Amino acid sequence: MNRRNFIRNSTLISAGGIFLPHQIYSNMKKGNLPKSGLKLSFEPYNLQMKHVFTLAGSSRSTTPVMLTNIEFEGITGFGEASMPPYLGESQESAGRFLSGLKLEQFTDPFRMDEILEYVDNSAPGNTAAKASVDIALHDLVGKIMVQPWYKIWGLPAEKTPVTSFTIGIDTPEMVRQKVKEAAEFKILKVKLGRENDREMIETIRSVTDVPLCVDVNQGWTDKQMALDMIHWLNEKGVKYVEQPMPKENMDEIAWLTQNSPLPIIADEALQRLSDVQKTVGVYSGINIKLMKCTGMREAHKMMNLALANNMKVMIGCMTETSCAVSAAAQLSPLATWADLDGNLLISNDRFEGVKIVDGKITLNDSPGIGIKEI
Ligand code: MG
Repeated sequence: MNRRNFIRNSTLISAGGIFLPHQIYSNMKKGNLPKSGLKLSFEPYNLQMKHVFTLAGSSRSTTPVMLTNIEFEGITGFGEASMPPYLGESQESAGRFLSGLKLEQFTDPFRMDEILEYVDNSAPGNTAAKASVDIALHDLVGKIMVQPWYKIWGLPAEKTPVTSFTIGIDTPEMVRQKVKEAAEFKILKVKLGRENDREMIETIRSVTDVPLCVDVNQGWTDKQMALDMIHWLNEKGVKYVEQPMPKENMDEIAWLTQNSPLPIIADEALQRLSDVQKTVGVYSGINIKLMKCTGMREAHKMMNLALANNMKVMIGCMTETSCAVSAAAQLSPLATWADLDGNLLISNDRFEGVKIVDGKITLNDSPGIGIKEI
């Protein structure tokens, strides 16, 4: 039996529950590799937002993404790069980066470190484009193993956190409407950092008692004012505060974390594994996003490093399809909090994947990152 048929037949048999994934693995380890390598393809796609999305620094109604495929022996892994404009990547830059990659040279998708190191070393930056390759490779390898990644990592599916749902800065009337639409969620994330912070919270509290978290996106500049605000937010049922002040103000943020009744979480202050150590002693926890850190492999390492330093871990996302959100969800059993609502903010998802049930991230048994094309 050639290898392609072996995989096909094995996949068929797996429906009956007697598939042994290690057979493919050991077959490959014996050197029975196909001549052809990994085949990468990509396609630009524009996400339509259900609502205009306002942060402390910008507003937008669409988000450009790049959808990627890695094909190997008739199996396809899906990936995605989400590129909100303020982060500096674009469909053009991602297209340039991905065009330059020569994944055909790799004939063993299991050598993930080697492949992803090659991708990372191909050019600086381009973290979302790199994540799109990482996610597609994980999806592919999980499909070959016929296992979802949370199982490959040995993570307990029942430990997934609830996810917050984001309420952007808006008029009181729109805020009330958005809160009503979010009735299913057990925690709401509120974007603060403009002049109407107290009004936003009061408006939400006029319609719901659900716990809140706030994301200031570096919007507060005075540490004493920030601390006063956090005390007030604590009384209003807020559970944690994300990036309250500009990331450069390390000493002031460390002071704030020491004195704050609520955990202070780093977001803009860190990107990759090498940044985790500098947040220790400054923040209470970190918000990890696949698009910032080049994907699942590095995110997994960052989570373990943060946990080893007794920090809290949050897993977040950009505006994304269910592809990248489901990839991040595979890691969510390691997180104290999750903010994986990016796919719920768009009206033109291309995938079906991880679901939110009663506000909780609910993983499925599908292999890889657990998605299928719609
Ligand atoms: Mg944030």
